[in-house]
Amino acid sequence: MKKETPLTLSQLKTIWGKDWDFFVEKIIPNCFCHTCKEVVTIVDFKIAVNDLNDVILEGKCAVCGDPVNRYTETGENEEYVGRIKKVLREKKK
Ligand SMILES: [Zn+2]
Repeated sequence: MKKETPLTLSQLKTIWGKDWDFFVEKIIPNCFCHTCKEVVTIVDFKIAVNDLNDVILEGKCAVCGDPVNRYTETGENEEYVGRIKKVLREKKK
């Protein structure tokens, strides 16, 4: 089974750091909805990080309300991985 750890929005903000605007402008409105068959905005999303340090959003399509997931490959960026590890360490305290 895949291991996923839930994150809060403020933890996610810490992880993205100065790229937070990119996240808000380029990730959130760029999720593919399989019902609408087009790129939509994700709403009401839960945030998790998996064991590859990739951040996953699980939410709903802003248009039709069906489930939409967005996978971000933060695990490929050393800067993000460093901050993810820090956030997870602090979480355990
Ligand atoms: Zn939709």
